[in-house]
Amino acid sequence: MTDFLYPTKQRLIDWKLQPKRALGQNFLLDNQIVSRMCHFLGATPHPILEVGPGPGALTWALLSFMDNPITIVEKDTQFLPILEDMKSRAAGRLSIIHGDFFHMALPQHPFCAVGNLPYNVSTEIIFHFLKAAQPPEKMIFMVQKEVADRMAAPHNRDGKSAGTKDYGRLSVMLQWCCDVKKVFDVPPSVFWPAPKVTSSVVMLTPKITAHHRALWPLMERGVKGAFSQRRKMLRQSLKTIVPDALAVLALAGLDETKRAEDLSIADFEKLAHALKEYTKKEA
Ligand code: SAM
Repeated sequence: MTDFLYPTKQRLIDWKLQPKRALGQNFLLDNQIVSRMCHFLGATPHPILEVGPGPGALTWALLSFMDNPITIVEKDTQFLPILEDMKSRAAGRLSIIHGDFFHMALPQHPFCAVGNLPYNVSTEIIFHFLKAAQPPEKMIFMVQKEVADRMAAPHNRDGKSAGTKDYGRLSVMLQWCCDVKKVFDVPPSVFWPAPKVTSSVVMLTPKITAHHRALWPLMERGVKGAFSQRRKMLRQSLKTIVPDALAVLALAGLDETKRAEDLSIADFEKLAHALKEYTKKEA
C-alpha cells in the first residue's frame, strides 16, 4: 500500500480536516513514529483494534506493514470520508466503527489494541480494555509522557533510590495486571497541532486471571486509600477507607508506620486480601 508515503499534513489539507480540541485531536505527522509503533506491536496472529484513527496515519501504517484484519473506532464524523477511502483500498482488511469507543462491543476473541489515544481519556480507555471479558493480548498506545512515567514507575525497593514520586495508583494497578514498558518518547513537534507536552509510546501486556478479577475492587480500594494521603503513615491514610486501619494492617502483616510508596505490588495484594477478610469479619 504505497499510499503510506502520502504525507499526513497533505492528507489533512486535501480532505479539509481540522483538529477539535474537545476530542483530544493532535494528529501524528511523522511516518517514522507510526512505523515504530507497528514495530513494537510486532508479528501477531490476532486482529487489531485501533482506537481513534483520526485521519489514519497509524491505520495506513498498520495496513502497509501487517497482514492482519484491522478494526478502527472513531467518534468524529469528519474522518469518515477519508477512512472510507482507505477501506475501499484495503482489500477487505479494514472495518470501520463510527462511534464512541466506550459504547462499542469489544471483541470476544484474542486481539491486540493500538492507538494514539485522546489524552483526556487515555487511562479510562486502558482500564476499559483491562476490565473487559477479553482484554487485549497486547496494547501499544501513545499517551502523555507524564502518564507513561506514572504507569511504568518502579517501586522504590531499597527505600533510598530517587524517583518514587511517579509511583502511585496508576503504577500499582497497571503493573499488578500487566507487563508495562515505556518504549520511546515523542516530541510535540511531530503532531499538528503540537501539544504542550511530550508524549510516550507504552507497551502493555495484560496478564489478567480469575484471581485478578476477583480481587480487583479490593485492590482498587486499598490502593486508593493508601495513596489518598501518600505522605501519611498507612495507619492514618487507610482510615479513609476503613474505620479500623490497624486491624486491616495486622491482617495484612504490614508495618503500620509505612507509607503507600513503601509498599510493593505484592504488599498491595496482601492489603487487598486483608480488606476482604476484614469485610467478611465485619459482615
Ligand atoms: N490516530 C490519529 C493520529 O495519530 O493522528 C488521531 C489521534 S487523536 C490524539 C485522538 C483521536 O481519538 C481523535 O481522532 C478523536 O476524534 C478520537 N476519539 C476521541 N474520543 C474518542 C472516543 N470516545 N471513541 C472513539 N474515538 C475517539
